[in-house]
Amino acid sequence: MATQLPEPKRIGMVSLGCPKALVDSERILTRLRADGYAMSPDYAGADVVLVNTCGFLDSAKEESLEAIGEAINENGRVIVTGCMGEEAEMIRARFPQVLAITGAHQYEDVVEAVHEAAPPSQGPYIDLIPQPSEHDIKLTPRHYSYLKISEGCNHSCAFCIIPQLRGKLASRRIDAVLREAEKLVAAGTKELLVISQDTSAYGVDTRHETKPWKGREPRAHMTDLARELGQLRTPDGHAPWVRLHYVYPYPHVDAVIPLMAEGLLTPYLDIPFQHAAPKVLKAMRRPANEAKVLERIHKWRAIAPDLTIRSSFVVGFPGETEEDFQYLLDWLEEAQLDRVGGFRFEPVAGAAANDLPDPVPEEVKEERFARLMDVTARISTAKLAAKVGRTLPVIIDEVGEPDEDGDIGATGRSQADAPEIDGAVYLRNVPDTLAAGDIVQVEVEEADAHDLFGVINPALK
Ligand code: SF4
Repeated sequence: MATQLPEPKRIGMVSLGCPKALVDSERILTRLRADGYAMSPDYAGADVVLVNTCGFLDSAKEESLEAIGEAINENGRVIVTGCMGEEAEMIRARFPQVLAITGAHQYEDVVEAVHEAAPPSQGPYIDLIPQPSEHDIKLTPRHYSYLKISEGCNHSCAFCIIPQLRGKLASRRIDAVLREAEKLVAAGTKELLVISQDTSAYGVDTRHETKPWKGREPRAHMTDLARELGQLRTPDGHAPWVRLHYVYPYPHVDAVIPLMAEGLLTPYLDIPFQHAAPKVLKAMRRPANEAKVLERIHKWRAIAPDLTIRSSFVVGFPGETEEDFQYLLDWLEEAQLDRVGGFRFEPVAGAAANDLPDPVPEEVKEERFARLMDVTARISTAKLAAKVGRTLPVIIDEVGEPDEDGDIGATGRSQADAPEIDGAVYLRNVPDTLAAGDIVQVEVEEADAHDLFGVINPALK
C-alpha cells in the first residue's frame, strides 16, 4: 500500500506596508515552508493567518487594524507580526482573540508562534529542510527581487519613528548579501532592488567590515556592494538590473555614478529628499542636509546622462512658511527630478515633530500639495516627452490576452521605473512568445505625465 503523506498545515498571509515588510513576509514564509507548511491563498483554507503589519503612519496603523479585524472575522486564528508588534497592548485590547503578537524581524518568534498555533505535520518528506534558493517563497514576481542589506537607522528625523520601531542600524555581512543576490539571479531574478532604511549608511555600524568574495575583499559599503552586484550574471550571461533605493546624498554617493556610466548599475537613484529649504530640513533633522546638492545633481547627470532621480517630499511640515515652500518649488524647477512622490505632513504617534510649534493649517497643506503635484507633473511630462522616438530597454512585468483582433499587449518598465512606485511602459502588438521577465528593446511612440507607450523593435536584442 502506498504511504499516505500527512496533509501539510496551511498558512494564510496578509502583508501590509513597504517593500521592506514584503521582504520580511517572504523570509517568514520561506522558513515556514522549510518546516513543512503550505500556503493558503484564502482565509477559509488556512489553519492560521499571519498579518504582517505596518505602523509607520497613523493611516497605515488603521489599515493594519482593519486587516487584523478582517482576518479574525474570516478565519479566527490570527498571529500578528511586523511594525505594529511594538503596540501589542493596543492590539490585544481591541482584538483579545489574537493568538500571538511579535515585532518586526523576530522571525524565530513568529515561526515559534505558528508552530504552537498549528503544529507542523510530521513526515519523512515534509521534514526535509530545503536550502534557501529557488525554493524560497517569493511574493514579488520571480523576475525582480528586493535585496535587504541592513535593518534599522541611526538617524532621528523628527517625523519618523522607524528607529524606535526597528532599532539602530544593523548591516548584514557583505558576503551574505552577495550570496543571496547570486542565488536570486541564478533562480531567474533579472532585477535586484537594494533596500534598507538608509542605503548610503550600509556598513557604518560594522566599520565597513571586509569579507572574502570571489578572490576579492569587498567592504560592507554601498560602493563595493554596487560594484560586486554589477558583476553578477544571469544564466544567459546578462547583467541584472541593480537599483539603489533610499540613498541619502552623502559625499560617497558620487562614487556610484561612474558605475552607472559603465553599465554596472542601473542609472536610477531613489533619494528621499523630503524638502529643500534649509530651515525646514534642519527642523526635520534630515541626514546629509547640505547646500551643494543641486550642484552635485548636475555633475551626476554630466557623468550619467540617463540618470533617473526619484524622490519624495513632505509639504506642510510644522513651521513651513510660504517662502520655504516656494524655495522647494524653485529647487525642483532647477533639480528637474524625474519622479516625485508628495505627502502632506501627518503627525505620527511618538514622533518628535508632533511637539513642534506652528502647525500648518490643513487647507494650506492641501493647496501646497496641489501646487507641488502640478510642478512635478509638468516636469515629468516634459522629461517623458523627450523620450519619444528613443529606443529603450524594457523589462516585461505582465503579458495580456489577445484582443478581438488578436493583438496582445504587455506592460513593462524602463530603467527609469522601479516596480510599484514609478510609471510603466505599455506595449502593443507583442509576440505571443513574450514572457514576464524578458528584457526587450522598445521604440517609444508616445508619453503622458507618468507612462510611456511603444512597440518592440524586433531587430534589436
Ligand atoms: S533616515 Fe530618518 S526617515 Fe529614514 S528611517 Fe531614519 S529616522 Fe526615519
